[in-house]
Amino acid sequence: MDWDYAPAPESAAIGRLRARYQMFVGGQFVDGRGADVATINPATESPLATVSWAGVDDVDIAVKAARTAYSRVWSKMSGAERGKYLFRIARGIAERARELAVVETLDNGKPIRESRDVDVPTASAHFFYHAGWADKLQHAGFGPSPRPLGVVGQVIPWNFPLLMASWKIAPALAAGNTVVIKPAETTPLSMLVLAEIIADAGLPPGVVNILTGAGDIGSALVNHPGIDKVAFTGSTAVGKAIQTSLAGTGRKITLELGGKAANIVFDDAPIDQAVEGIVNGVFFNQGHVCCAGSRLLVQESIADEVIGKLRDRVSTLRLGDPMDKNTDVGAINSAAQLKRIRELTAAGDSEGAQRWTSPCPLPDRGYFFPPTVFTDVSQSMRIAREEIFGPVLSVLTFRTPDEAIAKANNTPYGLSAGVWTEKGSRILGMASALRAGVVWANTFNRFDPSAAFGGYKESGFGREGGPAGLAAYLDTDDEGER
Ligand code: NAP
Ligand code: MG
Repeated sequence: MDWDYAPAPESAAIGRLRARYQMFVGGQFVDGRGADVATINPATESPLATVSWAGVDDVDIAVKAARTAYSRVWSKMSGAERGKYLFRIARGIAERARELAVVETLDNGKPIRESRDVDVPTASAHFFYHAGWADKLQHAGFGPSPRPLGVVGQVIPWNFPLLMASWKIAPALAAGNTVVIKPAETTPLSMLVLAEIIADAGLPPGVVNILTGAGDIGSALVNHPGIDKVAFTGSTAVGKAIQTSLAGTGRKITLELGGKAANIVFDDAPIDQAVEGIVNGVFFNQGHVCCAGSRLLVQESIADEVIGKLRDRVSTLRLGDPMDKNTDVGAINSAAQLKRIRELTAAGDSEGAQRWTSPCPLPDRGYFFPPTVFTDVSQSMRIAREEIFGPVLSVLTFRTPDEAIAKANNTPYGLSAGVWTEKGSRILGMASALRAGVVWANTFNRFDPSAAFGGYKESGFGREGGPAGLAAYLDTDDEGER
């Protein structure tokens, strides 16, 4: 009997893609001063649409539009009124959820199951959550009169395009700021659909401005003198460059950078659940996740059992057409990222780690990389230290909790960690010893708008989500700041 899954593709027509997209500035869809650039579907390498890119001069126009909207309208509006717009945007995302999921999957390469079940609902949830805060800021523990900062410049990466946009825009608006934001060059489309939702919600012109383009536009935006606060998510290298260039300007910055999270499995953990958590931790979104559990630390006494079960489970992951509802692992977002994953995994081979590759077949076209597990990994290897940002797991072992803590913290990063154990006391002890902004217990890669997210060390600073995330968009005079 044939037990293979039948193809179950979502229809690309649901995405209602247009041939050409424009930027969104001052409440209008306008051409940028840059070139028209195609955005491609990484699963097929075919162009999806062309996008009018900003020129550097557009940055000034967008920042001025945001300033005018701030001083004339948005900063004068009551929190309750601001909240109504955020609720409308949240509903607009929910109403166009299926379309947005398709657009995201086509442009990014992530499985439709993930864009449909995680990215889009969580994006809507961020607007709902922050809508509720807009009229309660004086009661949030920031002192009696928290004030907005002004115009916020935001730059986001390609791994969660719509979700990162919502994660950035919603708290900024709830706090009373206006926004100029740049999506990543390979994934502009879902944010431009969000622009339509924002326009349909009747948001006053200039409150949100979207500039398409590459790193030069991001750089011009964060360095523009009219910006009061910078919020950046992306690589540590670019984050460092931004911090350097903004030093001494007095501008508030939050940086969400890379990670190399330890997912720590103790010998008393429920092994089958832990295996699911390891898989979700590093193969979710092809491992293009800053908080991915890319280092498995497993207690030596159960290492063989865990690795055996892990290989069995990973062998069942279905890799292929991201639009197929049964696909678990989709396409790598770009040729450049695929090259980086290949380079780093080759370094794993040459440094002596043992590579195991899922036996799944790879499609003939598109950027794909099979789920990969390295064992015999030592802490000094590049695959244990550098962020691979792909479906690649490095397995290390430990004997005692102290050794697990020492190895987990032996990284320049500190974004997230996972702990798998039956003992509640051990969870609490590990959580306080791990230098990571988020510690998941007996789960991994869970996101909620009410929970603060952010890093230590080279993973950046500042928090997003929850009251701490709101504080990053407010002038609180440090009074009662959390
Ligand atoms: P990136 O180069 O830091 O890009 C992030 C965003 O910053 C993009 O919108 C990018 O534009 C823009 N940008 C590039 N140079 C800039 C500059 N000098 N000033 C201001 N903005 C600039 O990261 P990436 O190329 O997307 O990915 C590279 C590595 O970053 C990954 O391998 C991974 O290690 C890490 N990463 C981390 C996260 C995270 O969530 N923490 C997310 C994505 C990537 P372009 O799109 O035009 O480059
Ligand atoms: Mg694309």
